[in-house]
Amino acid sequence: MVETARIFIALGANLPFEARSPQATLSRALQLMPSRGVEVVCVSSFWMSPAWPDPEKPDYVNAVAQIATNKTPLELLETLLSIESSFGRRRNERWDSRTIDLDLLDFNRVTLTHARLTLPHPRLCDRAFVLLPLAEIASDWQHPVSGQSVSALVNALDQRLVSETVRTV
Ligand code: ATP
Ligand code: CA
Ligand code: CA
Repeated sequence: MVETARIFIALGANLPFEARSPQATLSRALQLMPSRGVEVVCVSSFWMSPAWPDPEKPDYVNAVAQIATNKTPLELLETLLSIESSFGRRRNERWDSRTIDLDLLDFNRVTLTHARLTLPHPRLCDRAFVLLPLAEIASDWQHPVSGQSVSALVNALDQRLVSETVRTV
C-alpha cells in the first residue's frame, strides 16, 4: 500500500486575544492557514485541560490538525511562528500562558534535530492534550521513532492527566 504524506500540528491557547476567546483564536488561525500555503485536511474537536505546569493559570483549549503543504519542515515552522505573531503570541517564561501556540508534531515521519526544529515533537508523548486529539483524528498513527501506537501512548500516560483532558466541540 502506498503511504500518503501526513503532517500533524498541535494548536493551543489559554489567553484571549483582542477580546476573543482562545477557541475563537484557534478557529481563526485555522481559517487563515490556506492563505499562508497550509491546507487544513482535518481538525480534531477542541479539548480543554488544566494549565501545566501551573494549574492556577487559565485552562487551555487544544486541538490537533492534519495539514498538507509544499513547504519544507523549516519553512512550515516559520509559517506557524508567523501565524502565532499575527495572534499576539509573546514569549516570556517557558510554558507561560499564551494567546496561541502552534507546534509541529510530525512531518511525514521525518526525524530531525535542528537548532530550531526537532521532529517528531520531543514532548508529544507526555501530553494528554496532544495525544487525545491526535488519536481522535488519526487512530492509526504511530510514533515515527518508537513505533508505538497513539492508543498505547495514551494508555502509558498518567490516567489523571487523561481524565482531566475533556473533549468539547
Ligand atoms: P514546547 O516545545 O514544550 O511545547 P512551547 O511550545 O511553549 O514549548 P515555544 O516557546 O513555543 O515552546 O517554542 C520555542 C521554540 O521551539 C521555537 O522557537 C522553535 O524554534 C522550537 N521548536 C523546536 N521543535 C519544534 C517543533 N516540533 N514545533 C514547534 N517549535 C519547535
Ligand atoms: Ca507547545
Ligand atoms: Ca510552540
